[in-house]
Amino acid sequence: MAPALERRVEPEGEDLVSEPEGDDPAAHRQDVGVVVLPRQARREQIVAERGSNAGDFVRRDLLALAAAAEDDASIGLPLGHGAPDREADRRIVDRLFAVRPVIVDLVAEARERLLQVLLEREACVIGADRDAHDARLYYTLSAFRSQLSADSREPTAESLVIPTVIIAARGEERLRSGHPWIYRADVVDVRAAAGDRVLVRSARGRTLGQALYSDRSQIAIRMLSHGDEPADDRLIRRRIEAAAAFRESLRIDATAYRLVHGEADLLPSLIVDRYGDYLVLQALSQGMDRLMPVVVSTLADLLHPRGILARNDPRARLLEGLEQRVEVLEGEVPESVEVREDGIEYDVDVRRGQKTGLFLDQRENREAAALYARGRILDCFSYNGGFALRLARGAQETIALDISEEAIARVRANAARNRVAVDARVGNVFDELRGLDRLRERFDAIVLDPPAFAKSKAAVEKAAAGYKEINLRALKLLAPGGTLVTCSCSYHVSEAAFAEIVYDAAIDAHTHVTVVEKRMQGRDHPVLLGVPETYYLKCLILRKLT
Ligand code: SAH
Repeated sequence: MAPALERRVEPEGEDLVSEPEGDDPAAHRQDVGVVVLPRQARREQIVAERGSNAGDFVRRDLLALAAAAEDDASIGLPLGHGAPDREADRRIVDRLFAVRPVIVDLVAEARERLLQVLLEREACVIGADRDAHDARLYYTLSAFRSQLSADSREPTAESLVIPTVIIAARGEERLRSGHPWIYRADVVDVRAAAGDRVLVRSARGRTLGQALYSDRSQIAIRMLSHGDEPADDRLIRRRIEAAAAFRESLRIDATAYRLVHGEADLLPSLIVDRYGDYLVLQALSQGMDRLMPVVVSTLADLLHPRGILARNDPRARLLEGLEQRVEVLEGEVPESVEVREDGIEYDVDVRRGQKTGLFLDQRENREAAALYARGRILDCFSYNGGFALRLARGAQETIALDISEEAIARVRANAARNRVAVDARVGNVFDELRGLDRLRERFDAIVLDPPAFAKSKAAVEKAAAGYKEINLRALKLLAPGGTLVTCSCSYHVSEAAFAEIVYDAAIDAHTHVTVVEKRMQGRDHPVLLGVPETYYLKCLILRKLT
């Protein structure tokens, strides 16, 4: 920011008030600045009210704007593009606006450029007429500053206009319940562009907080802060620091884990995973995409990674109108990154692997499952062999199944690297389970870790049938006393619904099953209470009794 804008205004000296009115001596040194925001773009104009008692400004119902900015070059120039609003001096600012009229600042220095004043103090903006301009009426200096630093432009009239979104009562209700998302249907008015950091206000004019705005997704708003807390770059930094410190405190026995888990770290739509000396991130909304520079510089600063890769290829980005792109944002990132998890070493393809390379959310479940490893193991939907490699250490024979040849090639490579024996097979689990049953094969432990069968609400019924099918087959294949580790990462299938499906499978398999452990995604993927979307991975460890 330019030094001139950093300078503080001393509360002494000549002021702009020539003929103070009213009887409040403190108000005599006050002046009122108003930013007039005509409907047409690029016609913003700052207007200074002179000679009025600022106290009157807030106390009276009506205030005539006495002077238009063109009268004073020192005021008009900083924002001097576009035609001046010739009607500004005749306009009436009515306190029946959604917010009360606000004193822009105490002007202490003669002829202080109004723009500086605005930047120096908590700035407020008032519309020139009483139409829908109220969406932009009121903002705080810090929001303003962060906006400036975010796009590092010199202040212009446009940058004075703080993007604002007004939400309906139902949206407010959601915020009160702790949910950070506002759907488009609950948005009443938008004065913002794609990806803006916006001020969120109620229809009655209350400031609810600041948020990321998307002009495409059904999730129009993702809250960053509440009340008057500014959602500036410092807030982003603090949140990343807190997220990283929390992971540090978990004493995770792995060099790969999640550092930032989006909403659950109050950094909506941001994922950051650590893979050894490298970081892989995903920005899954327009607003977070725009924040990449501050995110990357904070991560570089805090953690000194050798490289930061953006795995911005999830389909979710298409819903946001964002392109799918994989790119190195900082340093260098090799084709294959070595990580260690609970004594197992992996080569991870962070550019092309699923998710950001590994299924980090299952780390603790793999560790838990390992305690039940004995005899013959079947790892279904094995991917790179996370469960298989871990369980193989305690077993006589381990089979890993995955439909992806690439995944199976990695299981083999990882098995060789860790000197464990895994029979890795390419195949469709639905067919393979049936085939193994026909052959009357039996296993002592089976892992079912399928992809999300229900990617939408509409798909839940079909997904339930799929979950039931594989659980039924697996229960049949288990020897009595055997362990079934069964997972669902479909957010749309609740924990209760999943337990019900597994119960149905047990009934159909004519077997008694006990629940030995109820588990979820690892601690580095915490669940934000009130935000069910952050609780997606369910993992039951079951024992087949008979
Ligand atoms: N258990 C793994 C993660 C599994 S992810 C771990 O801990 O790392 C789900 C895997 O299921 C993917 O690798 C995908 O290729 C595989 N998959 C999807 N549909 C399948 C099917 N019908 N049969 C076999 N594998 C399938």
